[in-house]
Amino acid sequence: MTEETYTYGVKCRTCRITFRVQLFDSHEKNLFLVDKKDWYCDACKKEYFKKQAAELTNAHKDIGFPELEGTQKQISWAGKIRGELINKVDYLKKSLTFENDEKKELSEKAFDIFFKEWQVQTEATWWINQRRMTVRDISKRVEELSESIINE
Ligand SMILES: [Zn+2]
Repeated sequence: MTEETYTYGVKCRTCRITFRVQLFDSHEKNLFLVDKKDWYCDACKKEYFKKQAAELTNAHKDIGFPELEGTQKQISWAGKIRGELINKVDYLKKSLTFENDEKKELSEKAFDIFFKEWQVQTEATWWINQRRMTVRDISKRVEELSESIINE
């Protein structure tokens, strides 16, 4: 069985350079794709991801999270995971209701400590290892912290 592949010249939307791609559909479908799809050359793709990672790093810096250490790939992956985890904390925070101000204050203190625990983690690999952390895990840790504040 021979599988037909075609090579097409496409233009990068960013730098307008023409580069070649291999497409695996029928010639007709391929031509449609060549025409309609937004193509980006490898250099521009790399640049784009680098820029995105930098923007995320800056956004995290604004809320007290340090720059990550590791390889470029690890840093970019860890930054995404960190962003998702921070969103989970925000989601949890917003979903909580309190019987009284005292409990609300206690919860806020616990969340502060929780974030401080995260803010000292600068190793990209540490964040990558936390990638399966759920809202429930976060909630459990915040509860533990609340209890330790009460027992102080
Ligand atoms: Zn390009």
